[in-house]
Amino acid sequence: MFKAGKTRVLAVSNQKGGVGKTTTAINLGTALAAIGEKVLIVDMDPQGNASTGLGVPRETRRVTIYDVIVDGRSVDESAVPTTVPGLDIVPADADMSGVEIELSQADRRSFRLRDALQGQGAEGQARYDYVLIDCPPSLNLLTLNAMAAADAVLVPLQCEFFALEGLTQLMKTIEMVRQSLNPTLEIQGLVLTMYDRRSTLSGQVAADVRSHFGDKVYEAVIPRNVRVAEAPSFGKPALIYDLKCAGSQAYLRLAREVVAREKSRRLQAA
Ligand code: ADP
Ligand code: MG
Repeated sequence: MFKAGKTRVLAVSNQKGGVGKTTTAINLGTALAAIGEKVLIVDMDPQGNASTGLGVPRETRRVTIYDVIVDGRSVDESAVPTTVPGLDIVPADADMSGVEIELSQADRRSFRLRDALQGQGAEGQARYDYVLIDCPPSLNLLTLNAMAAADAVLVPLQCEFFALEGLTQLMKTIEMVRQSLNPTLEIQGLVLTMYDRRSTLSGQVAADVRSHFGDKVYEAVIPRNVRVAEAPSFGKPALIYDLKCAGSQAYLRLAREVVAREKSRRLQAA
């Protein structure tokens, strides 16, 4: 299912909560699918917000990420289609909270997700172009599993005062993961979220982040948009709930940019 070099596995991560990780996983995933990419979202957050936001009813979450991580069930068994064509999800449920204890003695406890993603018959056609892992806000075993499985980290960054502080933390974590679990882990890019163009603070934070991280920061900026915030309560991605709203359009621009940059990265790596 995952042909080496074909599937790009991205951990959507930031140790701060409420910065737009889940919103970005859902809407970037939907936007990528809308422009023809095959996408799998892996819901690694015990709260299951990505699963709920994509309208996966609890009763259909039969095999969850918990079963993948703890019982070694395959991605094939756990992935379910969403209402968005080309977008599947490995759902989560509240039972994730016991993972740390369940795995405390287990072999390869940080590599459970990587093993599941790679154990899908490497000889077969890659089924997905992108895997987006929606990470929990804390640095726990689930986040480590995500970062060990990922090719790169995609960082949503809320345009507010403490944004850069949270980033320092995340950069330390990525460095730690490189030294232990995953030496080739890259930073795919940073995306500015909940941008308010009327606020000088938003503008300042955006400028600061760009001066620190240069072209690692996507040009597409996600505005604060009420339609984006409302969509999950209808179990729909913003792009389905209201395609024309500014937030949906920004996620479409982000998806095009992600794909274009990924193409040029591959050309350079070849
Ligand atoms: P995280 O997964 O990092 O905790 P979420 O994606 O759940 O963050 O977003 C936190 C809150 O902010 C949610 O209530 C979400 O609906 C809201 N939100 C996220 N992005 C936007 C946006 N672009 N405009 C308005 N609200 C947003
Ligand atoms: Mg979340």
